[in-house]
Amino acid sequence: MKIKSVSAYPLDLNLKEPFAIANETMYVGENVFLKIETDEDIIGWGCATPDSVTSETKESVINCFNSILKDILIGEDPIRINFINDIIEEKIKGNPSLRAGINMGLYDIIGKKANMPIYKLLGGYRDKIETSVTIGLNPTDVMVEKAKEFVKQGFTCLKIKCGMDPDQDIEVVLAIRNVVGSKIKIRLDANEGYSLEKALRVIETLEKLGADIEILEQPTSAKYLYALKEVTAQCTVPIMADETALTLRDSLKAVKMEIADMINIKLMKIGGITNAIKANTYAEIAEIPVMIGCMNESMAAMAAGVHFACAFKNVQYADLDSALDFEEDIVKGGATYKDGYVIPSNKPGLGIEVDL
Ligand SMILES: [Mg+2]
Repeated sequence: MKIKSVSAYPLDLNLKEPFAIANETMYVGENVFLKIETDEDIIGWGCATPDSVTSETKESVINCFNSILKDILIGEDPIRINFINDIIEEKIKGNPSLRAGINMGLYDIIGKKANMPIYKLLGGYRDKIETSVTIGLNPTDVMVEKAKEFVKQGFTCLKIKCGMDPDQDIEVVLAIRNVVGSKIKIRLDANEGYSLEKALRVIETLEKLGADIEILEQPTSAKYLYALKEVTAQCTVPIMADETALTLRDSLKAVKMEIADMINIKLMKIGGITNAIKANTYAEIAEIPVMIGCMNESMAAMAAGVHFACAFKNVQYADLDSALDFEEDIVKGGATYKDGYVIPSNKPGLGIEVDL
């Protein structure tokens, strides 16, 4: 099989409501859809979701696609994904979301050729995974309402954004715990918003008052590795690295230096499934569990995260909810939600249909 052509289609997907975290507010999900055509009439789809966290823009992705990536892919056999990934990793620095989008598109082709969904092709450890749904920063009553709504929809795990105002964060989490009861899991994500002292104060207060926090994600700045390591050492709640673990190298460093108890791998940060497998394997050997997270990803990309998460035992946590946030997506299939779980499609490849 040979790759005949590759095309990129940038498209902003409107969010149902603005999404605020500790350092920015988003109104649309910028996605670049990637189509890989082969000489066997198999088409692979992928999607890049550039984000400021990875220092990318739609423009940088498109430029890199046109100036470097197309030439690498045309004429290659898409089944030789490890060979192609090696060339891409050597020639493209930055733009990890583009590398991820192409990598998942190649896996889509391999799955279609093998007539198998990607999660089974990769080893199929499980056939569904519990996912958190995220509550963005807002006034307390709005966040509490959102929590109630998610629980009513059947979700069993909430990820609450925090990191702007420790006192409000404590108030919000206690109010949400009060209305959702003790069985719902609550994770926090500060997106680098706290100092070491603030992070410890928030968690100590919440634990004393019985808030029962499952995980605290990225409490402190990614710039200061030792601040995060110190929170991890002192905090009674497991600490997860997200912004600290951007690239494959960062992730390995976080594991090796024991900076956090867990790491959040996002395909858009690490550059695709092939790299995510490497990071997860390393983390598993070091007994560090992994969460798979997402950016403002269309289902085309989020489905790849679901397949990856279901393939490997060490991917113990999932935060795969971005496809729920859009007014309208152009992608059907990929994954479904039921009783707090996200379930990958059993159709070949990613199992998506793209209406472009
Ligand atoms: Mg995060």
